[in-house]
Amino acid sequence: PKLVYDFAEGDKSQKELLGGKGANLAEMTNLGLPVPPGFTISTEACKVYLATGSVPPELADEIDHHVDVLQQKMGKKLGQADDPLLVSVRSGAAVSMPGMMETVLNVGLNDDSVNGLAHQSGNPRFAWDAYRRLIQMFGKTVLGMAGDVFEDAIEAAKEAKGTRNDLDLDADDLKALVETFKQAVLEHTGREFPQDPRTQMDLATEAVFSSWNSDRAILYRRQERIATDLGTAVNICSMVFGNLGMDSGTGVCFTRDPSTGQPGVYGDYLQNAQGEDVVAGIRNTVPLADLEQIDKTSYDELMAIMATLEGHYRDLCDIEFTVERGKLWMLQTRVGKRTAAAAFRIATSLIDEGVIDTDEALKRVKGAQLAQLMFPRFDGDADKELITKAIGASPGAASGKVVFTSAAAVEAADRGEKVILVRRETNPDDLHGMIAAQGILTSRGGKTSHAAVVARGMGKTCVCGADELDVNVAQGTIKVNGTVLEADATISIDGTTGEVFRGEVPVVASPVVQYFEGALDADAGDELVAAVHRLISHADEVRRLGVRTNADTADDAARARRFGAEGIGLCRTEHMFLGERREAVERLILAADDAERDAALAELEPLQRGDFLELLGAMDGLPVTIRLIDPPLHEFLPSMEDLAVKVALAKERGEEPGREAKLLSAVQRLHEQNPMLGLRGVRLGLVIPGLFAMQVRAIASAAVELRGQGKDPRPEIMIPLVGAVQELHLARDEVSRVLAEVGVEWEIPIGTMIELPRAAVIADQIAEAADFFSFGTNDLTQTTWGFSRDDVEGSFFSRYLEKGIFAVSPFESIDTEGVGALVRTGVDRGRAAKPDLKLGVCGEHGGDPDSIHFFHQVGLDYVSCSPFRVPIARLEAGRAAL
Ligand code: PEP
Ligand code: MG
Repeated sequence: PKLVYDFAEGDKSQKELLGGKGANLAEMTNLGLPVPPGFTISTEACKVYLATGSVPPELADEIDHHVDVLQQKMGKKLGQADDPLLVSVRSGAAVSMPGMMETVLNVGLNDDSVNGLAHQSGNPRFAWDAYRRLIQMFGKTVLGMAGDVFEDAIEAAKEAKGTRNDLDLDADDLKALVETFKQAVLEHTGREFPQDPRTQMDLATEAVFSSWNSDRAILYRRQERIATDLGTAVNICSMVFGNLGMDSGTGVCFTRDPSTGQPGVYGDYLQNAQGEDVVAGIRNTVPLADLEQIDKTSYDELMAIMATLEGHYRDLCDIEFTVERGKLWMLQTRVGKRTAAAAFRIATSLIDEGVIDTDEALKRVKGAQLAQLMFPRFDGDADKELITKAIGASPGAASGKVVFTSAAAVEAADRGEKVILVRRETNPDDLHGMIAAQGILTSRGGKTSHAAVVARGMGKTCVCGADELDVNVAQGTIKVNGTVLEADATISIDGTTGEVFRGEVPVVASPVVQYFEGALDADAGDELVAAVHRLISHADEVRRLGVRTNADTADDAARARRFGAEGIGLCRTEHMFLGERREAVERLILAADDAERDAALAELEPLQRGDFLELLGAMDGLPVTIRLIDPPLHEFLPSMEDLAVKVALAKERGEEPGREAKLLSAVQRLHEQNPMLGLRGVRLGLVIPGLFAMQVRAIASAAVELRGQGKDPRPEIMIPLVGAVQELHLARDEVSRVLAEVGVEWEIPIGTMIELPRAAVIADQIAEAADFFSFGTNDLTQTTWGFSRDDVEGSFFSRYLEKGIFAVSPFESIDTEGVGALVRTGVDRGRAAKPDLKLGVCGEHGGDPDSIHFFHQVGLDYVSCSPFRVPIARLEAGRAAL
């Protein structure tokens, strides 16, 4: 197969093959935009490299051919002594992974061609600086040398010269630095810096391929649930220079504001700078609008190109460009990352502009983004001490203790502390710290700095470019406007306004939550709320899946109802037995005879009845699936160890064996090695006489009472953890008997959970005895994989994720191949036996976006999730239907 593609050969649909960057460079080339010529080595070549440790044998010839074509186009050759062709070697995966992979610029320079470049550019300083940068980048990213080796040498050169400014180093100084760098390469790697341009290119290409499996790339993929086997492409692009003087420069821009979605001119520009200087946030940039003064021709052309690109992609684009001596070049574009708020506002603006329809707009917003809009905000009325105001780079309200290093952030997070990571700027090695922190604050860099881009991608609060902060990491202090903050001081940062406050600022519900709560009208003037309203209403129109909630209290039920829940899919009744009721349950379990047991049950029944009156009342007119008690008994009993100690002490004191001794023997009798696989669910109901009957009486009599008040209670009774149809028959008979005894004169559906593999496999038999199924995907995942749901996440899962055994925990997002196949079997066999069987899911997966799409596909009737996820489930159920 073909492994290398000229930029003129591809298009934007080929991201898997050419990577995002390569596919979009091809698209721009074919749109006739000024893209420097070049070619892309495909992800297929990378996959071979990752699998075998070497590039495919036919790659070299293909690259030769493309280099020839490029040399002809450019009229110069790689390594040509009087006028060298220089190229950049840049990674580009199908999914953008900011800062994850490596770039090497100025490939093609060597001891000879540097003179040619000096001559051609008429600027020897520039040429030696370019060579210096090549060796530095090559040393770090290809040869794996520590960055300090080079940075220390630069510092030493500046010191010798008596300056602190890079720009004071002249051509001779840089030439000397190049010698020092080459020497360092030899010392650290045992080999000379390669003079042959093709060797430079090949080694850089392999380094890009290898960086796919660097620690931080793996971490980023795990965080973003990106598949581990996609590989990256490599783009070889002829160099253009933004650092040839003040008539040159480099910048990043967006066709709309990526923070708010507002149309306008957004971006950063840096004169006389190369490549990564802007993104690295090392020098402070000027706003893009200033380019109009600096170079009107390039500015006008850029504005026209931005309009072309937005029209072509029908979405916000972000763009990297360079101006070389007054000539504009496009280095990259892509459909740009944006904040959650911007996503909603851009999607609805584009409907209004007639660019996309409402279905398309709904496809472009995600449940995860809606979740972000539901995070709390700082209370505008609270007393606040503003320390400084900088750039709001990624919205949110975060408070925490100041930490200065990523390691400190990770340690603090492990201790359960909230921290704000404060840095001059971040780089890809800070990813761990950024994930661990509540928010990120930097003193350098703009909206396109590494910190800003990565934080936005993760949905993490970020304020950047706070140049009033004087961060002294060595002393562990921040000085700002006359005050001093120590490490450990608490601060609060507002990623929307860019404000930084001392102390912890109290938070209030976000406008979007207020809207869901019914406290803010959709048309009250908040554009974001209006956009959310519009898209979620459309989701409600198009979705086929119902959305219910998991709730055990009237308050939760009422909130979920305001959030749009169409009923309760799971009420876990064991949650009603905690707290002070625990003792009654203890008496029930320990009952020595029928009388004691009946007394304990009689004590519990009115309490349960009260619970159901409230719950059914809050969900009046909507279905409420009440699951009969499920958990293992030991959860209600005191710890065996504690009791044993108490009993032993009492014995030593010569006391009579009392209540505790009795309790201990019961606890010992009931002790299980694997309680999750033990006496729980339907097993409990069948073994403890009267327990299910008590619960059903409470449900039925509450419903009868509500009916008497003219209300419309709709309980549904659910039997948990069934594995054999006989279990369900026995339980169902008892439930029906009690319903009749109480005098229920309407149909109360009786169903079961499908949460054991056996139940899914014999779903046809089980369906005969069930009015509905609810898939309990928590237990189904536990029992299908044999993973203890209470233990694994803190145990070996992180290693499994690292090894790529799965990209996300199967307890978080449904394992479609395994657990999902059982769900599918359960659906198919259940419906085959009973076509009108109602089917839902009430495991955690019911609120997970990817899982919701799966449940839509397999044909469930509804998903049930926690109250706060209800809007997210509505949105995703709508998206799944498109
Ligand atoms: C399940 O197992 O998926 C379920 C919803 O029940 P629980 O989490 O209460 O075991
Ligand atoms: Mg369960």
